[in-house]
Amino acid sequence: MSFGTAVRACSAAVLMVGTLLGGQAVAAPAAPAQNEFAATTVTYDVSAAAEFVDAVHQGAANWNESVDNVELVAAQPGGPANIEVIADNGWPRAITTSLGNGIVYMGRQATAEGHLPVRIAAHEFGHILGLPDIKPGPCSSLMSGSTGGAGCTNAHPNAAEAAQVEANFGGFLSPEPYDEPLVFQD
Ligand SMILES: [Zn+2]
Repeated sequence: MSFGTAVRACSAAVLMVGTLLGGQAVAAPAAPAQNEFAATTVTYDVSAAAEFVDAVHQGAANWNESVDNVELVAAQPGGPANIEVIADNGWPRAITTSLGNGIVYMGRQATAEGHLPVRIAAHEFGHILGLPDIKPGPCSSLMSGSTGGAGCTNAHPNAAEAAQVEANFGGFLSPEPYDEPLVFQD
């Protein structure tokens, strides 16, 4: 965060420097609007996501609509990925080893109970992007997980959840591994 603030302040200072021309201060031309930093790309691998591939892509797209500082991108087939997405018969869960890295399990136990696969995918991506469970909570909260209700169709982060992920990825990212992998059983 402090690095990001420094960059923004520095960019502003550069823009405010006038050019001395014929003894008159001339305002520097306005620079085209651009982001101070490129988004961090986090890749995910759906090769083991079985029937949930489309839901996983939609969950990623929902995050990409909601945040600017990180973008979830499908990994090249056979290539490396930050996130492995695996379908299994357990309860959905995520294991994250550092910000933006980990494993998402698309557990069929929850979809069998009526939980929406896209919401599950987006929720588990939320853990990899640094969010905890926020439970119990309403359907309007993505990180309320299963407590949002089996009929809950909201698969987008709310404003607070999106803001937290923006903050998590808001500076120059050099993710330190967590002391121990974080495991979220939902
Ligand atoms: Zn969870």
